[in-house]
Amino acid sequence: MASDDQRIDYAYFQGKIIPTNEANISIKTHALQYGTGCFCGIRAYWNEKENQLYAFRLKDHYKRFHDSAKILMMKPKLSIEELIEITRKLLAKNEYRQNSYIRPIMYKSALALSPRLHDIEDDIAIYTLPMDDYLDINNGLKCKVSSWIRITENMIPTRSKATGGYINSALAKSEAILNGYDEAIFLDHNGNISEGSAENIFIVRDGKLITPSFTDSILEGITRRSIIEIAKNEMKIDIQERTIGRSELYIADEAFFCGTGVQIAWIKEIDKRVIGKGEIGPITKKIRETYFNIVTGNNKSYKNWLTEVY
Ligand code: PMP
Repeated sequence: MASDDQRIDYAYFQGKIIPTNEANISIKTHALQYGTGCFCGIRAYWNEKENQLYAFRLKDHYKRFHDSAKILMMKPKLSIEELIEITRKLLAKNEYRQNSYIRPIMYKSALALSPRLHDIEDDIAIYTLPMDDYLDINNGLKCKVSSWIRITENMIPTRSKATGGYINSALAKSEAILNGYDEAIFLDHNGNISEGSAENIFIVRDGKLITPSFTDSILEGITRRSIIEIAKNEMKIDIQERTIGRSELYIADEAFFCGTGVQIAWIKEIDKRVIGKGEIGPITKKIRETYFNIVTGNNKSYKNWLTEVY
């Protein structure tokens, strides 16, 4: 393998795997002008002992990708199976032997003027990069309920993971960071808890795991779904998918974010209220441990969630 600074990095672009620096689009591209695209964020974990790279829940990510495309009136040029195969090939071509991130994007590629969804050609591109932790998952995050409200189903459906919708995330994230916090928590249009800027949220109260439901303007997170399955199968704890009021966050025993990028990151403080004892709680800790064992290929009962790259 070439050293990091001379390594040629490859991407999937216009039907071929080519050097990433040659994968460029026109400034007239519809998606660049209007945010008319949708995307996935996927992780692959390196298992040193097995000399194997495991991509996590590709089928589920690509099913959501296809669903997002449907909402945005796009016709995917690749099936879910083809997307999985290209992703595997691309990771192998990039010779990753470390934790990495995969970013597929489907976008309105026509050089068309006027914001609309119908009758505009679309295309798919995929790039990858090495990635370790994206937010600090060890020390507890300090969060702020955002002054920005989460976009709702009838504005830009959060279920669609639309590129343009991430302006909403960026507004909240920058507000939080520039005010000295680590992450933002959105309320929905009814004033209830929705999610973080790029992650779902869970709280624990009296031993129950609680998370906003699909109708609370959230993305249908794959990590969220995985945690619900882990909690049901491995921990036999009660799970509630329901509305959470803002003040319920303050009195939670535990709170954590989950998502592909953030993985599982425990929350220490929200709006200057310390959550629980101000340390990682036992349920969060157990979920985090189980999750990392699964994604790295060390828990063979969940092997069907993983795609081997090599
Ligand atoms: N919500 C938003 C807004 C996100 O961007 C993400 C990251 N994709 C998530 C939740 C978590 O989703 P997933 O677990 O599928 O990565």
